[in-house]
Amino acid sequence: MIAKPLSSKKNAKSQGATLPGPGDFPIGSVQSRAAARLRLQRVGAGGEPAFDCFCFPEDERPSFGFLIEVEIASEVLCPVHNNEFTPLFHLYIAKRFREQLWNDLWTHHSEQYRKAWFARFPPELWPAVEEETECGSIFLKLKDGSRLLAYEPAWRDSYTEIERNRFVLSD
Ligand SMILES: [Zn+2]
Repeated sequence: MIAKPLSSKKNAKSQGATLPGPGDFPIGSVQSRAAARLRLQRVGAGGEPAFDCFCFPEDERPSFGFLIEVEIASEVLCPVHNNEFTPLFHLYIAKRFREQLWNDLWTHHSEQYRKAWFARFPPELWPAVEEETECGSIFLKLKDGSRLLAYEPAWRDSYTEIERNRFVLSD
């Protein structure tokens, strides 16, 4: 009998196309839990199994680089407490500080904060890469290739009008 080299090639190809799921990471790892949650959120199933608490700690109010990240984070409620959280707004946040937010996760925050963070920003998708257009808009490109409009220059004026947060983004 002669082996068929084609079949092994085919296998390798189909494996490469598989998307990461909860089973692809060590059980109980941050990645595994985030992947599992991400799937449930996509399915939007009611009566899903109980999860760990992923509230942000009371003494560690979350910081975000863009308003859209606040909105994304606000959509995910802790399944145990259903609590909303109060974000910490910056009057001025430069690009280097936006990047620093992700490094600070490991050096300036607790395990619970990281749990809360990665429940909302799963490592399969975040951190995003910032893409600035010629007219000054900023898109966030996620790891799956999707792009979110995070900032438009015209928004600066409307935020100033509101005067509530003075959410000014600038380098
Ligand atoms: Zn909770």
